[in-house]
This record gives sequence, C-alpha cells and structure tokens, in this order.
Amino acid sequence: MRDNLFDVSQKVVVISGGAGVLGSNMAKYLLSVGAKIALLDLNQEQINIKIEELKQVGSDVIGYAGSVLSETDMQEAKSQIMDKWGKVDALINAAGGNMPGATIGEDQTIFDLKMEDFRKVSQLNLDGSVIPSLVFGELMSQNGKGCIINISSMTATQAVTRVVGYSVSKAAIDNFTRWMATELALKFGDGLRVNAIAPGFFIGNQNRRLLTNEDGSYTQRGNTIISNTPMKRFGEADELNGTIHWLISDAASFVTGVIVPIDGGFSAFSGV
Ligand code: NAD
Repeated sequence: MRDNLFDVSQKVVVISGGAGVLGSNMAKYLLSVGAKIALLDLNQEQINIKIEELKQVGSDVIGYAGSVLSETDMQEAKSQIMDKWGKVDALINAAGGNMPGATIGEDQTIFDLKMEDFRKVSQLNLDGSVIPSLVFGELMSQNGKGCIINISSMTATQAVTRVVGYSVSKAAIDNFTRWMATELALKFGDGLRVNAIAPGFFIGNQNRRLLTNEDGSYTQRGNTIISNTPMKRFGEADELNGTIHWLISDAASFVTGVIVPIDGGFSAFSGV
C-alpha cells in the first residue's frame, strides 16, 4: 500500500494565468498544503500584487511575466524555475479566456462572428495550453514523473449559446488532454499524467457581466444556468481545489486522460 497518498508538500507547481481568479485561488490553496508555486502571467505588476497576497499563506512563491503563446517566454520561465528549485512536478494551464468578437451577441447570428477574434480566442485557449505543456512536459518526461492539468469547460461538450470561439477551443483542450496523456504514458511511462478539470459556472472577471446585473441579481442567462444546475447555485473558486489536489497527488497515480466535471451536476442533468 502507498503511504501519504495525498501529500503534495515540496512539489513544485507551475500555474499559468496564476494572477487570475482561478489560478491564484489554486495557488493559495496549494501553498497552504505545502507546495511551492511558480506563477506565470502577462503582467509583472499583477504578479507582484498576487505574490504579496500569497506570501501571507506561504513563502515558497515566485512569479514570471511572459506569454503562454511564446515558446521563448516559456523556456525562459522554465530555466528560472529550474535555477530556483531544480524541478517541476506539476503544471496547471489556467491561462485562458474569451473575447467579445468571438461571441455571438444577443441580436446577432453566427454569421456576425469575427474570424480575427475567433482565431485569437482559439489560439489563447488551445496554443496557450499546448505550448507550456510541451515545454514543461518535456522536462517532466526527462525525469519520468510529472502531472499536467488543463482547464476545460462545460462549453466543450455542449453548445452553451453565444460563446462559440471559446467553446470550440475548450473542446480542442479535451482532445489534446487525451492525446498528451496517451503519448506521454506510451513513450515515457506511467509516472506522467495529463488530465483536465471542467468547471461548471463560477462567477469570474470574464463572465461577471453575462451572469449578474449591477445590483447583484442574476441576468436571464444567470437564471437559466441556475435552473439547469441540480445544486441550484454557482460554484465557488475554492471548490476546484479538492480535485486539483487529488490530480497532483499520488492518489491519482493511475488516472490519466480524463476530464473531471466540477459543476454541481450541470453536465449530468438533461434539464427535464
Ligand atoms: P481570469 O481572467 O481571472 O484569469 C486568466 C489569467 O490568464 C489572467 O490573469 C490573464 O492575465 C492570464 N493570461 C491571459 N492571456 C495570457 C497569456 N497569453 N499568457 C499568460 N497569461 C495570460 O480567468 P479565470 O476565471 O481565472 O479562468 C481561468 C481558466 O479557467 C480559463 O482557462 C477559463 O477559460 C477557465 N474557466 C473559467 C470558468 C469560470 O467560470 N471562471 C469556467 C470554466 C473555465
């Protein structure tokens, strides 16, 4: 029997989009259970603000400004993390998001889609997970051990009106998760795992305007989501942490290539 199944202390976890809502929340939790955290995000000032907040929980947190769309930036971040801690145990690809031109407005049809924005959103969500996965995954493959977690979405498997660009790229993330999991395990052994979480609906910076009115009440879209969620509420960012902890730890040692919904039952429910 394995000991300390859920022990993640001293594990070095890289979090892209680490200055964002979900990424920084995961960072806070993982620091509290003894992991070492490297935040990757676009803006140094925002990273510094997050690091100051996170230092109240644990001192082992560093950050690098760079884009997940730049292989050079990711290689540079990898070298700096290796210089500091000498290893990377896990990567969470939490950089991602949406863009107004890649959504279908209320009075628009799919023919109003702006291809330039569609491409940008696809690139951010898909390439922005593939590039760090290749850079840090290669490092993990050299050690024969490591874990990658992608962030999918409910929009990957069902058409959730309006957010078509985002949705298509999250569907590609599901597919890439299976690909990378299979390729790593087949070629580099059972110490390498790649999984994804698919959060249901959590109110964050990107969707606040879609889900809530200025007075805090729910929009029509917000209410539709609640009526299709058996648990009848939005998720709290903290509710992703248990699954993230499990996937990083040895408790998930035989789990690879899966997408775990964390959604209050949204994906299980037919709406009837
Ligand atoms: P967020 O906007 O708060 O955080 C995203 C972070 O990514 C930001 O800090 C941003 O600066 C960073 N980023 C953007 N482009 C980047 C780039 N090129 N290089 C490096 N960093 C970059 O969003 P969030 O709500 O924390 O979402 C995190 C992930 O979870 C995203 O992939 C999102 O699609 C996904 N997600 C969120 C929800 C939700 O309800 N909030 C639901 C499902 C999935």
